[in-house]
Amino acid sequence: MNWLTNFVRPKIRALIGNDVPDNLWDKCSKCGQMIFQKELKANFRVCPHCNNHMYLSVDERIEMLFDKGTFVEITNKRIVLDPLKFKDTKKYVDRLKQYKEKTKHNDSVVAGYGQIGGNKIVVLFFDFEFMGGSMGTYVGELFITAVDYAVKKGCAFMVVPCSGGARMQEGIFSLMQMPRTTVAVNKLNEAGLPYIVLLTNPTTGGVSASFAMLGDIHIAEPEAVIAFTGPRVIESTIREKLPDGFQRSEYLLKHGMVDMVVARKELKATLSNILSLLEQKR
Ligand SMILES: [Zn+2]
Repeated sequence: MNWLTNFVRPKIRALIGNDVPDNLWDKCSKCGQMIFQKELKANFRVCPHCNNHMYLSVDERIEMLFDKGTFVEITNKRIVLDPLKFKDTKKYVDRLKQYKEKTKHNDSVVAGYGQIGGNKIVVLFFDFEFMGGSMGTYVGELFITAVDYAVKKGCAFMVVPCSGGARMQEGIFSLMQMPRTTVAVNKLNEAGLPYIVLLTNPTTGGVSASFAMLGDIHIAEPEAVIAFTGPRVIESTIREKLPDGFQRSEYLLKHGMVDMVVARKELKATLSNILSLLEQKR
C-alpha cells in the first residue's frame, strides 16, 4: 500500500462514483510503485520508475514486434498429447484442458509468419502462463514445423523462450525435444538462414540447454534470468556465495554468452536493423 492506493484511489472514487475497477493500477514487481495500467501497456509493461521489464504475454509481444496485420499463425500437426497417460494430483490431459481454457492457446508455444520492419520472418513465442512455458512434444513439433516453414520461405527464424524447462508430465518424451530442436536448428544453418534467439525472463532448464543457446545472434531483455539451474540450487550444492547479478542478462553479456541486451522499446528497431543487414549480406 502507498499513497496511490490509500489516497489517490479513494479521491478518484469520490469524484466519479464507486465503479472504478480495481485493475486500473498495477504494482511493479521490483520497486513496488503503483503504475496506471494504460501507461504500463503503452510502455510494453516496463516500469517507468525502475525500468523493470515485467512479464509480457505472447499476444502483446506479437503486437509489439510484428508490422500491423502481417502476423499469420502457423499451426501444428496432430500429435499424441499424453504419451505416458500421466497422472499426479490431476490427470495430465485435464491439466492441459484447463490451461487451454485459461490462455486460449493450444500449448506453451505460438508460432507465426509475418514481417518486422518489412523483413520476412518466422517467430516461435513461448507462453509462460501455459504450464510455465514448459517444453513437451507439442513444443518440439511446432518448433520443427516453424523451422521448415522458414526454410520453405527462405526467411529468418527467431525463437522467444520464456520457460521453466522440460515438461515433467511427458518424462523422456520431453527430454527428446532437446536433440530434435537442435537438429532443426542445423537445418537453418544448412539453408544459410539466420537464427535469432531473444532471451526473456526466465529461460531455464532443458530450453536453455538446447536451442536457446544455439542462435547466430543472442539478444536478451534487461535483467532476465538465463540459466540451466537456478542460483539457489547451485549455492546449496557447491556451498559458495555466487557473484551479484549471476545468471542475469548483463552478467551473461559481460561473459560472452549473449551478444546484446536490448530494452523492450528498442527491440523492434534493433531486430529490423539486424534482419535488413543479414538480408543484404545474403
Ligand atoms: Zn519498478
